[in-house]
Amino acid sequence: MPNSDRIPAADAALKNFLTHANLPALLPAIVQLTGDASLLTRFAPPTTPMMGAVEGDLSPVDQAAIREIAFDALVAYRDGDGTLPSLPSDETLVEMMNWCAGEPLPPEYVPLAIEEAALAEADPRHFEWNAPPDAKTLEDYHVIVIGGGFGGICAGIRLGQAGIAHTIVEKNPELGGTWHENSYPDLRVDVPNHFYSFSFEHNPHWSNYFSMRDEIKGYANDVAKKHGVDGHVRFGTEVLRAVYDDASAIWKVRVRGADGQEEVLDANAVISAVGMLNRPQTPDIEGLDSFAGPSFHSSSWDHDLDFKGKRVAVIGTGASAMQFVPRIAEQVSELTIFQRSAHWASFNEKYRAEIEDEFKWCLAHIPFYHSWYRFLLFWAGSDRAFPVFQIDPAWEHPERSTSEANDLFRMGASMYIEDQLGGDPELIKKCLPDYPPLGKRPLMDNGWYSTLVQDHVELHNDGIEKIVPEGVVTKDGRTIEVDILILATGFHAGKFLWPMEIEGRDGAILNERWEGGENPKAYLGITMPEFPNLFCLYGPNTNPVLGSVIYMLECQTTYIMSCLREMLENGHRSIECRAEVQDEYYERLDTAMDGMVWRHPKVSSYYNNKHGRVITNIPWTMYAYWDMTKAVDLKDYKVV
Ligand code: NAP
Repeated sequence: MPNSDRIPAADAALKNFLTHANLPALLPAIVQLTGDASLLTRFAPPTTPMMGAVEGDLSPVDQAAIREIAFDALVAYRDGDGTLPSLPSDETLVEMMNWCAGEPLPPEYVPLAIEEAALAEADPRHFEWNAPPDAKTLEDYHVIVIGGGFGGICAGIRLGQAGIAHTIVEKNPELGGTWHENSYPDLRVDVPNHFYSFSFEHNPHWSNYFSMRDEIKGYANDVAKKHGVDGHVRFGTEVLRAVYDDASAIWKVRVRGADGQEEVLDANAVISAVGMLNRPQTPDIEGLDSFAGPSFHSSSWDHDLDFKGKRVAVIGTGASAMQFVPRIAEQVSELTIFQRSAHWASFNEKYRAEIEDEFKWCLAHIPFYHSWYRFLLFWAGSDRAFPVFQIDPAWEHPERSTSEANDLFRMGASMYIEDQLGGDPELIKKCLPDYPPLGKRPLMDNGWYSTLVQDHVELHNDGIEKIVPEGVVTKDGRTIEVDILILATGFHAGKFLWPMEIEGRDGAILNERWEGGENPKAYLGITMPEFPNLFCLYGPNTNPVLGSVIYMLECQTTYIMSCLREMLENGHRSIECRAEVQDEYYERLDTAMDGMVWRHPKVSSYYNNKHGRVITNIPWTMYAYWDMTKAVDLKDYKVV
C-alpha cells in the first residue's frame, strides 16, 4: 500500500520533484536510505557542488541515472514498511561525505557531520544528564541568560531540556536579537539559510536561499515557542550590573525593567548572550547633532520616513549599507554615499533567488536529504574556504593578496566589480579595495555596483570634514545639502558585554581586565579567570566570518551545559577558568591569528583593536572549534 504520509507524491509528481533536487545531497541521502554504498563508486562525484538544484559537472547521463535510482528507492520506501536503516559505518560515511563535498575530507569530520547535519537523529546535541541531580538541587539552582537572540534561545532550549530553572533577561519587547533590532530595507541573511538555522530545527520551508529579516525573526520565535523558551523571558528588562558574591557563589544581577524600576536577581550561573553587533556606533564627526533633518542609525530605521524625491546621504559602506542602499536609491532624488574605505563584494546567483516549491518538497520529504544538503552547505561555506583566509608566508604578492587562493579570489572579485561598474575608471578606482579580499567582512553584492553607476548616485571617498544643519561638508570643501542622513557606521563590536558592569571574584572588574574593553579575552571565547560561573556566548574571538554564528552558539551552549552538568552532578559551587589556561590558549590563538588575512598590514576593521590585535574572529576551522568545545575538561578550571 503506498504510504502518502511518508512520501506524499504519486509517481509522476515524485519524478518531477526529483528533477529539482540537489544531486550532491541527493545521492548520499539515497545511499543512507538504501544502504547501497556501491552507488558512491558508480558515479564520479561532482567537483563543484553548490546550493540549489545542481547539475554541476555531473554528466547528463549520470544525472538521469541518479534521479532514476532515487525514484526507485523512494517508491520502495513509500510503498514498503517504512523502516529506515541505521546509520552507515564511519567508513561509508566518509565516502558519502567525500562524494557530497566533491573532495576528500578528513575522517574526523564524521562525528561532527552526524551532529551538525543531524544524520542519525533530529537533535544529537540534546542535553542529557549522566547522573541526574535530585529535584531539590535543580529547583534551587537558577541560571540567568542575558539576551534573547539566537544565542539566548539556544541556551534556553538546553536549560529547559536539563530542567534547570532559568530566566532570560531581554532588553527588547520581543525575541530575535539582531534580527529584531535591525529592520532596514532588504535586510536578509548572507549565509545560506539551511546552514544559518539550528542544527536541531531544520526548516525545509525557507522561502529563499538567503531569507529576509522577518522570516528569520519568525523562525527564531517559532523555535523558541516550540521549545517553551518564551515562558522564561523577562522582556523589556536590561541588565545593568552583575556582581559575584564569593561567600555564597551567587551572582547578584541588577536589572532595570520596562517601568524603570531596578531590582537584583540572584543566579548561580550567568550566561551572557548579548551578541556582538547590537550597540550602534555613531561616528565621531563634528556637528553630527546639528543636522537639521531626520538622521538615524541603520539599526534604528525610521519606517515612517518617505524617501521619495528626497536628497539622502549615507555614511558607511559595510554589510548594512550594501543591503539597503540599492533599495532607497530607487526612491530618492539624490543619493550621496560616504565611503571611508572600499569593501570587497562578490556575486552569488542565489543571493536574491526564491526557492522553488519542488526543492522545498525534496527538503521536507526525502529522508536524510535535508541533512546532506546542510552538510554540503556547512562544508562549502566554512572549512573548505578556510585556506583563502590564510597568509602563505611564501606568497610572492603580499602587497595585494595573501596566497594563491586569495589572489584568485581577488582576480574574480576585481573582474566582477570592474564589469559591474561598466569600465568607469574613476568609480573602479574608488571601489577596488587596496587590501586583500576577506580582510574585512566579505559582502554579497545586493545591486551595490549597479546602483553606484546611476546618475543620481554619488560615491564620495575624500572624507567628511563636518556635518552642518543643511548637510555634509567634505574634506575637499564641498557642502552637500541633504534632507535625510543615514548612519550605516556599524556597531561597537569589540566591546564585549558592554555597557554592563561585571564585577567578579575579589572585586575584579571585567572591563578593567580587558584594558578598558580594548583587549577582551576569554578561554574558548566562553569563560574568564576571576569570573566564576560566568559564561559567554559569541564572546571574544568566536566570530566565525566563514560559516554560521548559530553553529558557534550551539558549540558554546554544548560546552556551557557540560560545565553546568559537571557542577550540578558533582556538587561544585563554582568553576573558574585558570589564568594559565587562558594565557596558553591566547598564545596559540594569537600565533594562529598572525597567519590570517585580518592581520594583513593593509587591513583595518572592527575585527582589530587599536593595537591591531584581532579581538573578534576565530583563527581556526569550524571543526577545530567544535572539537575544543565538545565538553569541558575540569583540569582547565579551579573548582570549588
Ligand atoms: P560595518 O560593517 O562595521 O560597516 C560600517 C561602515 O561605516 C564601514 O564602511 C566603515 O568604514 C564606516 N564607518 C564607520 N565609522 C565611520 C566614520 N567615523 N566615518 C566614516 N565612515 C565610518 O557595519 P554594518 O554594515 O552595520 O555591519 C556590521 C556587521 O553586521 C557586519 O560585518 C556583519 O557581520 C553583520 N551584518 C550582517 C548582515 C547579514 O548577514 N546580512 C547584514 C548587516 C550586518 P570602514 O570600512 O573604513 O571601517
